[in-house]
Amino acid sequence: MQDVEVRVRDLLSRMTLEEKVGQLQQVQAAGGHVSDALRDATRAGRIGSIINEVDLATVDTLQWIAVTESRLRIPLLVGRDVIHGFNTVFPIPLAQACTWNPGLVQRAARVSALEAAASGINWTFAPMIDIGRDPRWGRVAEGFGEDPYLTGQMAAAAVRGFQGEQLADRGSIAACAKHFAGYGASESGRDYNTTNIPEHELRHVHLPPFKAAIDAGVVSIMTSFSDLNGVPATGNAWLLQTVLRDEWGFDGVVVSDWESIRQLAVHGLTADDRDSAAEAISAGVDMEMASTTYADHLVSLVQEGRVAESKVDGLVANILRLKFRLGLFEQPYTDASHLPTPGCADHLALAAEAARESLVLLKNAPHDGSPLLPLALDTLRDIAVIGPLANDPYEQLGTWVFDGDANLSVTVLQALRARIGDAVTVHVARGVETTRSRSQAGFDDAVAAARRSQVAILILGEEAILSGEAHCRADITLPGAQAALIEAVAATGTPIVLVVMAGRALALEGVLPHVHALVYAWHPGSMGGTAITGLLVGDDVPSGKLAVTLPRVTGQIPIYYAHKHTGKPPTRETVVHMDHIEARAPQLSVGNTSFHLDVDHTPLFHFGFGLSFTSFVFRNLTISTSTLTPDGALIVSVDVVNTGARAGHEVVQLYVRDVVASVTRPVRELKGFERVHVAPGETRTVQFTLRADDLAIYGRQMTRAPEPGVFHVWVGGDSCADLQTQFILAA
Ligand code: BGC
Repeated sequence: MQDVEVRVRDLLSRMTLEEKVGQLQQVQAAGGHVSDALRDATRAGRIGSIINEVDLATVDTLQWIAVTESRLRIPLLVGRDVIHGFNTVFPIPLAQACTWNPGLVQRAARVSALEAAASGINWTFAPMIDIGRDPRWGRVAEGFGEDPYLTGQMAAAAVRGFQGEQLADRGSIAACAKHFAGYGASESGRDYNTTNIPEHELRHVHLPPFKAAIDAGVVSIMTSFSDLNGVPATGNAWLLQTVLRDEWGFDGVVVSDWESIRQLAVHGLTADDRDSAAEAISAGVDMEMASTTYADHLVSLVQEGRVAESKVDGLVANILRLKFRLGLFEQPYTDASHLPTPGCADHLALAAEAARESLVLLKNAPHDGSPLLPLALDTLRDIAVIGPLANDPYEQLGTWVFDGDANLSVTVLQALRARIGDAVTVHVARGVETTRSRSQAGFDDAVAAARRSQVAILILGEEAILSGEAHCRADITLPGAQAALIEAVAATGTPIVLVVMAGRALALEGVLPHVHALVYAWHPGSMGGTAITGLLVGDDVPSGKLAVTLPRVTGQIPIYYAHKHTGKPPTRETVVHMDHIEARAPQLSVGNTSFHLDVDHTPLFHFGFGLSFTSFVFRNLTISTSTLTPDGALIVSVDVVNTGARAGHEVVQLYVRDVVASVTRPVRELKGFERVHVAPGETRTVQFTLRADDLAIYGRQMTRAPEPGVFHVWVGGDSCADLQTQFILAA
């Protein structure tokens, strides 16, 4: 293949201004057929990309028109949101992050790419890598949680999975890191809302995952809908040019979000579409998704001299470069016979593996002397399975599953019945019609089922529609009558296993005391039922760890582990409850520290936390040197011992605190993790390497550099690990 840059320049030199503008346009396809409008536009070279066409014959026809009937024979980018699977649906990305297994996330993305490619897709709008610290925001489901390091690792893994070894390989598709940037900080967790993010926070929290995706080779970036510090991301030259192109050297495609160029006028940044086109062009948005401000105005903007044609050339070059990299000029069509069949057994097995590793066991209290889970099947005669999500093949898939095939799903009820056979009687009750229902009409049946049983498994949470884009909640407790249902079932005295399927962290403080066991399953995808059953009956040992903090109540938001210390931090003694306060009013003995009067300052479950069926102990935390030099490396080593009776996986986590710096730093920051298998009685030694660059921060002058001084280090199984050491970073 000729050098891509030579080919780009050659093609560009042969294009009319109209053809250049055509390349910048992405249009919505007709869905299953080639409309006259699309045929004409493709033939005339007025479009560079289509979105939302998954009928292979239609895609191939459009490609054929593009490469045989258009003057310059430029193939199309074919885009689709392949967020957590295609026909086979993997757990939502937030759940995938709880596996702490980037290799698995990479394989899931690979399978998603293979399935999507079989429909002619060559570009996905994933991974979504916005930091999600506000679970009210519906789109936390699509991202990898609250932490920039973990999100960055998962972002890189997903990019490698989608794009494969070579972008031009059959089955590889272009990835798109989105939404650049800061979308996750939307005020009050309301989608599309304003964000105000100081540059330090932007650079320390929101931008690093994008840098990680770029380092992994991502070839496109999508701008955010949101207003960033007064300049919406889609018109933000500082973000798209200064940071993305000048600092990071990104040479891929920047695509707008759906009509986000046109929306610049709605934001009040521009007066009209024409102005919006000029603004987005000058900020550096290469491709316009859905709206047509470029198509309508760019030619005349250039003719008038308001936009330089050389500027347009730069944008077109980015798009052509991607088309060459994808090998589309050599092979615009898809031969699906060389790709695995979507939904095949191997893909479903991987979906089961991903679901299994993403389940987080949060509580497992004793019943009759031993933890309720795994269920002691040999002693059980009757089990109650209660809840609207116990047997719903669609809802368990979660948000953004345009192409998900619910016929492939295995529900909890199906899997449990298949696993336990006739030996145990299953009493099924819905309890509530949907998770949002307020009616208690179904309670009696649920209570009766529980009364007849030795254990009640409640599968509750949120339907798929309660999270995702534009599906935010102001109150993140269990919706509808579900909390009352739990209390009604608990009143029978039958122990409860609560399995939560949800697209976000829910505030479960109110219901936690009523359940013996709590399994957080998120929206686990096609094979959720199989994975959940495996955990419940003990075929599998849980290993998932929270990628987000679970608050006690909605009012604690934002609550995340890597918070700043404040000047008046609460202490372990600052345990506050309303009745305690009321009894002592008006004098509070808890002092003037940073806390709420009506809720403990700690979360319900902290980041990185998750139980197992075995137990792990950490010992022998050592560091190779107490002084790290600027160009040296330091090895942190720890022994993890499986002190329980079953083999299991532990996620060993490394946290660091920069104790004194020119700008205040979080109380802890994740700097490394490794998921290890440990047999009963076995000791595994895990090592992490830290270099000065891993400790670099943006100081008061906004330049990135490590700052000398003392660093604290913790290693353990969650973000509250107390095994600690320290070292000095030398000047
Ligand atoms: C979303 C994007 C998505 C696009 C195309 C928008 O509404 O914000 O994440 O890729 O639609 O479906």
